[in-house]
Amino acid sequence: MALSGMDFYLRGFQDYQRKGLDAYRAGEMQEARFNLLKASEFLYKLSRGSEGKLREKRADQARRLLDRAKAISPNAPNRASDSGPGPMAEGKTDSSKAKFEAVERPTISFADVAGLEHVKEEIRLKMIYPFTHPEAAERFRIRRGGGVLLFGPPGTGKTMLGRAVAGEIEAAFFTVKPSEIMSKWVGEAEQNIAELFRTARTHERSIIFIDEIEAVAPARTDSGSSVMQRVVPQILAELDGFESADANPMLFLGATNKPWNLDPAIMRPGRFDDRIYVSLPDQPARRKILELNLTGRPCSDDVDVDQLAQRLDGYSGADIKNICEEAAQQGFLAAVNDGDEVPITMAGLEQAATDTKPSVLPQDLKRFDSFAQGGERSPRQP
Ligand code: ADP
Repeated sequence: MALSGMDFYLRGFQDYQRKGLDAYRAGEMQEARFNLLKASEFLYKLSRGSEGKLREKRADQARRLLDRAKAISPNAPNRASDSGPGPMAEGKTDSSKAKFEAVERPTISFADVAGLEHVKEEIRLKMIYPFTHPEAAERFRIRRGGGVLLFGPPGTGKTMLGRAVAGEIEAAFFTVKPSEIMSKWVGEAEQNIAELFRTARTHERSIIFIDEIEAVAPARTDSGSSVMQRVVPQILAELDGFESADANPMLFLGATNKPWNLDPAIMRPGRFDDRIYVSLPDQPARRKILELNLTGRPCSDDVDVDQLAQRLDGYSGADIKNICEEAAQQGFLAAVNDGDEVPITMAGLEQAATDTKPSVLPQDLKRFDSFAQGGERSPRQP
């Protein structure tokens, strides 16, 4: 089937951009320059056939691509390693580069995450439906990808959810620890964050997950660290960079157990598209977590997951997982010691529950609830 003019330019632009960025990462600078110039040219043509905001966005992105391509000298080496790093890789060491190549493709999916239906639906809307219904997404100008902040008590499945999203849409998954940015990459933090976003954008779909996001973006007033003062605005700018309609879609997931420590700028509308409260599991979710953790393990008939789920009100998903593991260990130990396997019993699970205190205190939960309802704000919030 012949491509329409617009489709031709769109495909061409996407192809050249991908090749350009791949070449860039590989240090093939002339190849990168050529492809980025072509990508910019195609995008200009595309913008001229577009209307309204999309036209402006495309023209703007084409200009930025052109600038990026022109920043590569026509004499730049064709391999970054031949004679030093290229313009975007300045000061970058091999070890920092390797960080971003440690891409994981998780195999878990939404079905492995109990509850959190509203979070899953939000993510489907951003990252899944636009792919399954591309024409409708284009017509309604639905933005693909974006930034979502997950906040809530520890052990409620925020990290797991990040991996499940990547598994669900076969996306490249980048996890970045703030401590790595701060310790190993001090002095290079800005370049590394830019590099991370650039690398992620070269994948057809990608997810960047940063846990303890509050550590990356502490309130600027009390950070006292010049690195952090420079890194925070950059992350915000990179988030704004998601806007491009034609760029490979990325989902940025930031997670925090201490949302009140976040830079107020990050919490303002327009930064993260969504700020989602991930709270303790409700009864059906607790039941599902029990099932997920008991299925496939030897269990006696008296195990009543409904009753247990009722009893475990106030426990996090991680607590429930620990309880199941604790109970399983008893049976395992018996098998090792006596050669006589004892299945997991209701009594064993109840004992493990008694021995395990809920890791989230009621007063902490109140603080989260209050924050989620807008009752607690950072002092600098307007
Ligand atoms: P967080 O990032 O919120 O601190 P994690 O995602 O690291 O929590 O959760 C730790 C573990 O607890 C997970 O690996 C999983 O085994 C279990 N868990 C927590 N919440 C859920 C959930 N909603 N569904 C299934 N398992 C969960």
